[in-house]
Amino acid sequence: MLTRRVLIAAALVAIASAAQAQDKMPVVATFSILGDIASNVGGDRVAVRNLVGPNSDAHVYSPSPADAKTLSDAKVIVTNGLGFEGWLARLIKSSNTRATTIVASKGIKPRKLAGAHSHDHGHGQSDGDPHAWQSVANVKTYVANIRDGLIAADPAGKATFEANAAAYFEKLDALDRDVKETISRIPPERRKIITTHDAFGYFRDAYGVEFIAPQGVSTDSEASARDVARIITQIRKQKIPAVFLENISDARLLSRIADETGAKVGGTLYSDALTDEKGPAPTYIDLIRHNIRTLSAALQS
Ligand code: ZN
Repeated sequence: MLTRRVLIAAALVAIASAAQAQDKMPVVATFSILGDIASNVGGDRVAVRNLVGPNSDAHVYSPSPADAKTLSDAKVIVTNGLGFEGWLARLIKSSNTRATTIVASKGIKPRKLAGAHSHDHGHGQSDGDPHAWQSVANVKTYVANIRDGLIAADPAGKATFEANAAAYFEKLDALDRDVKETISRIPPERRKIITTHDAFGYFRDAYGVEFIAPQGVSTDSEASARDVARIITQIRKQKIPAVFLENISDARLLSRIADETGAKVGGTLYSDALTDEKGPAPTYIDLIRHNIRTLSAALQS
């Protein structure tokens, strides 16, 4: 008897949560970092799905037919913009989705690409550096754009979205203070590192750590032998203390550079993708905290 009652109760719970899931507004984010930010703003009123998941590279993504279906079911699409998702426009078109699009980076002044690191990503547009989320202040702009876009799509959720965004702003402000404080404890002459691809320009501008990368701002082209040779010379000349791996890039190139120069491998930095739940960067805030901990551990001594 009891078992039966438990089963009925469990069935009712399942039906209720299925109904609840259906009530949630379907939101699609183009990649994992943006998905986490959108979830923080949307809270219980949205069901967020990512096109490019954790530990995956959005620069070179090839959408699947399932992605077109995901988009056609969406009410809102959240994109980074700044030329990051070169594959998205065609996917939106082929999906016939009626979803509205929120460009999270709207209003952010893009970093211009200059000198040897300047690469047109191969999709015919040069929008500057797309990795604006590497400055926490920029992510506050992302949050405001997502909040306003969600309110436009779901006006009944206005109070919720505003409260969620306000709570998240506070966390981001605390994060920004922690980044600045952590970097301020690293001796200025040691604030120089090497990463695989040039994803940390906004971090450099906001927090004053010099990043040098053999690959350009996209991962779609290999570093040339000349780029690598130039970086090896630079590491030796400027006594750059450490090189860092990324979860979305091939580790071999940097390991080779470390071997040749004697720079130490300082660990993994997360640039363009979160980790899964078991990794050290399952949320945007975790990602930034992991990166500054890793940087300061490698650069302190
Ligand atoms: Zn990137």
